[in-house]
Amino acid sequence: MVIVMEETASEEQVSSVIDKLVRLGFDIHRSTGVRHTVLGAVGGRIIDARDLEVLDGVKEVLRISSPYKLASRTFKPEGTQIKIKDVVFGGREVIMMAGPCTVESRDQVMSIAEVVARHGAKVLRGGAFKPRTSPYSFQGMGEEGLKHLRQAADRFDMLVVSEVMEPSQIPLFIRYVDILQIGARNMQNFNLLREVGRINKPVLIKRGASATIEETLLAAEYVMSGGNHEVMVCERGIRTFETYLRNTLDISAIPVLKKLSHLPVVADPSHATGRRDKVPPMAQASVAAGADALLIEVHNDPENALCDGAQSLLPDQFEALMRRLRLIAEAVDRSVAADVPEPAER
Ligand code: PEP
Ligand code: MN
Repeated sequence: MVIVMEETASEEQVSSVIDKLVRLGFDIHRSTGVRHTVLGAVGGRIIDARDLEVLDGVKEVLRISSPYKLASRTFKPEGTQIKIKDVVFGGREVIMMAGPCTVESRDQVMSIAEVVARHGAKVLRGGAFKPRTSPYSFQGMGEEGLKHLRQAADRFDMLVVSEVMEPSQIPLFIRYVDILQIGARNMQNFNLLREVGRINKPVLIKRGASATIEETLLAAEYVMSGGNHEVMVCERGIRTFETYLRNTLDISAIPVLKKLSHLPVVADPSHATGRRDKVPPMAQASVAAGADALLIEVHNDPENALCDGAQSLLPDQFEALMRRLRLIAEAVDRSVAADVPEPAER
């Protein structure tokens, strides 16, 4: 941390700032310039910069190191790869996760899993417990939904990602899913973050609609500080003054997260835009910007979907998007899985 004193700061004010920092465990490096005295504070406890800014004689406080440590790129400069079965997140391949917003029936999940798997998706998504804005909306199928996801994923050789809403559900999720999703609305549910920090299954954290990049990485830090280092962070659109689409996909967060952190970065163009016609261009932009994985909603009958039908791609649109993404991935030195050939007829 660097503390710049006011030009008019008295020696007493400088000493009192130094005393406070020393009490907090910092080593102080003082430099007295022609105009300003500058204090470099190294080590010490994590403190709120504003506690220093309000002291008499302080002009500004600049934080140099990040408040998150385990999630920071410095902790693992080469980047983290999360390997689940034969799927690697954070490697050269951009991993596609696709499926309905919510599990509605066994047939629905089976039929969507079949088409997304055929076109290269490695992970089946779907909510069994839904965080709905209204208490009157469909709340999800619960455990039965998780079972359908597992069966469909096993049949088509996929992984399962699904959202866990509270700590008491964790044992159930461990039984059925490969990746536990923490939803945007729960990104700062610190109890839940701590609890998934104690398990050894990968966690996908969605950025809150009003969360800064730093807050998102601090959510990852909560999980990691409990011992679980298999964390991915997901940009899924934030709330801005723009109201045309459901949210604003912060594409720039992708390279920023990649620079600040070693964790794999996921982009979700479905919740970001809320409209299926805007999903492909934003998915393409996300791959071009360096996303390690995409999370995309696909539905076989979106007009009758129980949740998020308008933003769900039809199977044909998913196929077309995958073809386009393969070209874009190649241009940025990445790859996207090819279609799985149909089994030869006997
Ligand atoms: C979801 O992925 O189903 C979901 C609810 O997303 P978010 O938490 O980003 O709104
Ligand atoms: Mn959804």
